[in-house]
Amino acid sequence: MSRVLLRGAQVITMAPHRPDAERADVLIDGDTIAAVGEGLDGAGAEIVDVPDRIILPGLVNAHLHTWQTALRGTGVDWTLADYLGRVHGSAAPRYRPEDMRIGTLAGALSQLDRGTTTVGDWCHNTLTPDHTDAALDGLAASGIRGVFLYGTPYSAAYPLSEVDRLRGGPLIGIGMAVRGPQLSTPDAAVADFRAAAERGLVVSMHQSGGEPGPGWEAVRSAGMLSPATNVVHGAGLTEGWLKTLVDAGASVTCTPENELGQGHGSPVTPHLLRLGAAPSLGTDTDAVTPADVLSAARIALACGRHHDHREAAGPFSLQATVTAKQALAWATVEGARALGLADRVGRLEPGLQADLVVLDIAGPNPIAAALYADDVEAVMVAGRWRKRDHVLLGVDHDAVRTHLRESASHLLPHLAGR
Ligand SMILES: [Zn+2]
Repeated sequence: MSRVLLRGAQVITMAPHRPDAERADVLIDGDTIAAVGEGLDGAGAEIVDVPDRIILPGLVNAHLHTWQTALRGTGVDWTLADYLGRVHGSAAPRYRPEDMRIGTLAGALSQLDRGTTTVGDWCHNTLTPDHTDAALDGLAASGIRGVFLYGTPYSAAYPLSEVDRLRGGPLIGIGMAVRGPQLSTPDAAVADFRAAAERGLVVSMHQSGGEPGPGWEAVRSAGMLSPATNVVHGAGLTEGWLKTLVDAGASVTCTPENELGQGHGSPVTPHLLRLGAAPSLGTDTDAVTPADVLSAARIALACGRHHDHREAAGPFSLQATVTAKQALAWATVEGARALGLADRVGRLEPGLQADLVVLDIAGPNPIAAALYADDVEAVMVAGRWRKRDHVLLGVDHDAVRTHLRESASHLLPHLAGR
């Protein structure tokens, strides 16, 4: 395996007990980070000088429905009801396997282009096994790291034979995307949680739309809440329920732009912070919101500060109680934890996977430069460059564009109905 020495950048490791940023080299051995520090020995390694650059861990978009990429932006002015009716009610049933593949492939490539190296791909338009296989194939073909969260659009009973059939790959893990306690009967919710636990899989579910349903008490009573539990949005959960989740080690993924714009509710970020926890972040649906996890981080940060200003005794809070470094952690460390990958990605530390982003920018505050980044120079996943000099590598852009347009022309007419 090859060795690469990235020399002389400002490195944001996101590792505990390290500076926010430090002038350092990063030595990569095969797919792994071998060392981070000053003056590393580059013998036998390809030397890549990266002065005036910022290197940070690859971003983690913990909740995204990549299969919807061909619908990007179509729902910018939709309500939640519009989205559910037009996408899930009308267009989703018209998807062909090839639509699943190109949407997933293009969505994952778009994520890589923005510096996301790991995605929680919440796939719930698995109309047939061929649709599922096509989506999984598209995700793997992109070169991104991911957890393929297998879900179902219509079946009341989760098809365990299907999730048992699926095989990931070197970079792709399998998880369960279930209806969850809010949208299932209590018995079904418990059964889904138990099935995930028996398989050692992450179990992820949407939660919004009012007061917590009885399924939540059922899964809690059954002792099913764990660090493998991933709750998306978390809207409607009381602070007591959020504390129950936090105490169980469960993760909560906020998708703030979607939550604010479509009425899921205010992001629960401030409540998690008050409990000493933190959110992971997602961008949810390309049809409605941009697929930029750094935007999600900036909006979640603003929501956290907005909450503190509202709670302040005076016209505004006299302290910035939430920091930009925390927001960057939500898009890296916390995303990795939500997907069960905390021991592999999310930080730049020896022994972890070499997933990183290079930014061709500098500034007096590297954390701010990273959080505000709107252009990514290079992206590495598992020690392999996926983007360099601002261009994705190994991608037939014309073919991807052509297939995505063909898919869109098939699907868009069906968005008109509700
Ligand atoms: Zn979602």
